Amino acid sequence: MKQFTIKSLISLEGIGVHSGKSCKITIEPAPCNSGIVYIRAPYDNDQSIVAADYKNVSDTTMCTRITNEFGVTVSVVEHISAAFYGSGVTNAVVKLEEGDEIPFLDGSSLHFIEAIEAAGLQEQSEERRKIRILREVKIGDEKKWASLSPFGHFMAHVRCDFSARGLKTEPFIYDSATDDFKKDIAGARTFGFFSDVEYLRKNNLAIGASLENTVVFGNDGQAMNPEGLRYHDEPVRHKLLDAIGDLSLSQYEIVGRYEAFCPGHNINNLLLRELFKDEKNYAFE
Ligand SMILES: [Zn+2]
Repeated sequence: MKQFTIKSLISLEGIGVHSGKSCKITIEPAPCNSGIVYIRAPYDNDQSIVAADYKNVSDTTMCTRITNEFGVTVSVVEHISAAFYGSGVTNAVVKLEEGDEIPFLDGSSLHFIEAIEAAGLQEQSEERRKIRILREVKIGDEKKWASLSPFGHFMAHVRCDFSARGLKTEPFIYDSATDDFKKDIAGARTFGFFSDVEYLRKNNLAIGASLENTVVFGNDGQAMNPEGLRYHDEPVRHKLLDAIGDLSLSQYEIVGRYEAFCPGHNINNLLLRELFKDEKNYAFE
């Protein structure tokens, strides 16, 4: 498959989940092999560029933050990253017009995907960059782990355990050959637990989170959002959405199987670092 960029400019704005402040971005087309690149103002300065690269991940507390060598940061890149990956966009420039985080919108990838579809995709001359997993790479412990292993195309198997929170979960399997990212994953929203709200408030975390952008589960394991859930297993699907966003920071399409138990942004980033540690683990295609 070829590389793709967007056909026309995209402008999006909304609240940042960390700051609670207004954030505004513009997405522009970009040439072959340039990847996804974020730019903070001033835009004519090379020091403002932060590449969507797993090596730039500097913080994974509640989101994925990337930082360049000059200390310039962009936060909450995981949902827009998943949208680029899911819609096949390999090259784009994201300008942060206001704020240092990506607008949280509805807490999923859906609005990003819809905006990309409205802008249209532009096929480019070169083939998409792929990386084939040659042998299993695993990271974590029995409480939380993730692995990549050889498989003919990208597929994922994710399990979570929220039984202590009164929430039943079942494994979720995604096969890129047969399933539809937009239909099956993109709409799965960020989620949290009502029992954590006091802690988050006290520590000034997730100031922009609300029932508009986060599914909140009460102590009875039921969603407190008046509209209910978009999928009966929305949390595990969101875990996969985050993982797809995080894995896309490899800057390659992964040909292999991702398997995880209770994954988070940290585990996903450590998994990529482990993968690239040894050239015997992978082959470029
Ligand atoms: Zn997320």
